[in-house]
Amino acid sequence: MVAFAPFFVDSFDYDMHKKTNLPQKICMRCGRPFSWRKKWEKHWDEVKYCSERCRRNKDKQ
Ligand SMILES: [Zn+2]
Repeated sequence: MVAFAPFFVDSFDYDMHKKTNLPQKICMRCGRPFSWRKKWEKHWDEVKYCSERCRRNKDKQ
């Protein structure tokens, strides 16, 4: 049975579900995905950047 062990089957999906049952967004600045954080719970809809750094950098351009 070892030969049929599904080493690779859905392991990616499994990790996704296990680690990220939180909402995610893509940072408007660096393009990286980031997850919901407690500090954003009141204005998550308005969050566009993954970090304070990205948020500040937008002002430079
Ligand atoms: Zn960013």
